[in-house]
Amino acid sequence: MTIVQRIRSADRMTLVTLAARIAGCLVLLYLYAHVATHEASHANSVATGAGLFIISSLFLVPGLLGAYRVDLNRLLVFTLVADGIALGLLTSSLAQYEDPFYAWYMAEAAVAVLLVRRRSTWLLTAIIVVSYVVAQTFHQAPHSALLFGSLIVKTAVLVLVGVLIPYIVGGQEERQAGIEAQHDEVVRLNEKLERSVAELRAVTEITELIHSTLEIEPAGPVLLEILEKVISIPMASIQVVDKSKQETIFSASNLGSGAAVRSYSGLELAGAVSGGLSDSTLSCIELVDHGNTLVVFCADTEVVDSLDSDDRIVLQAVASELVVAVENSRLYRLTKRLAITDELTDLFNYRYLQQRLDDEVSRAERFGKRVSLLMLDIDDFKRVNDTYGHQVGDAVLAEVGQVLKSTVREVDLVARYGGEEFTVILPETDASGAFIVAEKIRESISLHRFPDADGARTIHLTVSIGLASYPAHAADKESLLRAADDAVYSVKETGKDRVRAPRLHLRRLPKDSDVLEVEGAAE
Ligand code: GH3
Ligand code: MG
Ligand code: MG
Repeated sequence: MTIVQRIRSADRMTLVTLAARIAGCLVLLYLYAHVATHEASHANSVATGAGLFIISSLFLVPGLLGAYRVDLNRLLVFTLVADGIALGLLTSSLAQYEDPFYAWYMAEAAVAVLLVRRRSTWLLTAIIVVSYVVAQTFHQAPHSALLFGSLIVKTAVLVLVGVLIPYIVGGQEERQAGIEAQHDEVVRLNEKLERSVAELRAVTEITELIHSTLEIEPAGPVLLEILEKVISIPMASIQVVDKSKQETIFSASNLGSGAAVRSYSGLELAGAVSGGLSDSTLSCIELVDHGNTLVVFCADTEVVDSLDSDDRIVLQAVASELVVAVENSRLYRLTKRLAITDELTDLFNYRYLQQRLDDEVSRAERFGKRVSLLMLDIDDFKRVNDTYGHQVGDAVLAEVGQVLKSTVREVDLVARYGGEEFTVILPETDASGAFIVAEKIRESISLHRFPDADGARTIHLTVSIGLASYPAHAADKESLLRAADDAVYSVKETGKDRVRAPRLHLRRLPKDSDVLEVEGAAE
């Protein structure tokens, strides 16, 4: 740094001191010139005093500006010693001018203690005071009480300047530091408050989100998005694990499918989290462990390590809400399933059958498709009950349901119509296709042996199946059901263990009145 740069970067106090110092040197040069021409007797001591001041200034100027790597305190003490001697010489040689350097002493004391501040100020003040007192008494000891009193007062003022100024400045600095510390504390508390409010808002948002729906699974990604607003978790997953079943019952994840990051199954989590599951990039921590439910948070190891206590509180609050929401969702799904399920056979019940048949017939009507319906009635089922008891009868009914399900396609719907009667909806199947399925079912049941009271597969059953197809046999749902029912009745009357469809229903196609469509050849 050049000397110019140093001057530019110096503080105002230093620059004022240097300017005053240079001005002082010029004044002393002028003084010397004056004394040398008018009072030659004092010229030597004035020259020595002025010379000393000028020399100490020459050291002080670059010293204060940092050209010498000298500690400012030490520099000031040295120059002040020189200044003290210089001022003493000047004061004693020019005493006849009524103490002309007192103001200079005051300025020296003030500048010295302000530059040095509190440390060493007693030493600097002492140098000034000693120089002043010695200079005053050396020339002419105060011979009257008034002069003596005046010397005491002036000396006391110098002492006060040397002691009070740093004391006042120090006090102000302390107050300033106190205000700044308070301000910092307020800023810190404000930031903390803002974060707490944001966290509270996030938890509330998530709570509202997961309790606003009973289908909680789709809420997962939004939940992570909201969490990311308050906790920096670019890649994370929250999983709710059923410990008894060792399976994940809820999972929200935005973990990448990169090689290093993998998603943990419920089994792995339930077993490993208690020991602090982690691999090189992914760590998992347990947020809630309550009863059979475990909530696990997994994220990048660095993210998990950097979670502070506030983050963990937020995550735990979210996890607690999640447990309740997942449980509600589970109960809702169970209730929904039970509402459409037949308890004994685990097939769809009568209510759901009606609903689905409505839908299927409407769809077939809208898109010009076909749908067929099979109505099954177990032949002589009363005998099963009478021979083996009601319990065996129940077990047989349940097994008939399983045989039916395993015989038809995934898209076909098997329901228990009531008692020992079952129904199968066959979407997009015409009467001839339905007949094939019906025959397959009839054969499966007939070939199957159901367990008796001893568990021996001795019970043989047959079924009578009535078949009806839309639009071949019926124009709407009610008539379709009726047609299938009539067909069953007809089978029962003509020997059972057979498949039958109603009489063919001939339907005139729109526009071309001569064309007749014939569907189903079921008998
Ligand atoms: P068919 O249909 O061949 O004319 O003779 P069936 O003996 O099957 O006829 P019916 O309709 O008269 O009797 C049905 C029997 O099914 C009567 C009832 O005891 C039995 N049943 C109905 N629902 C249940 C049930 O939930 N559990 C048991 N174990 N039996 C049932
Ligand atoms: Mg019956
Ligand atoms: Mg029957």
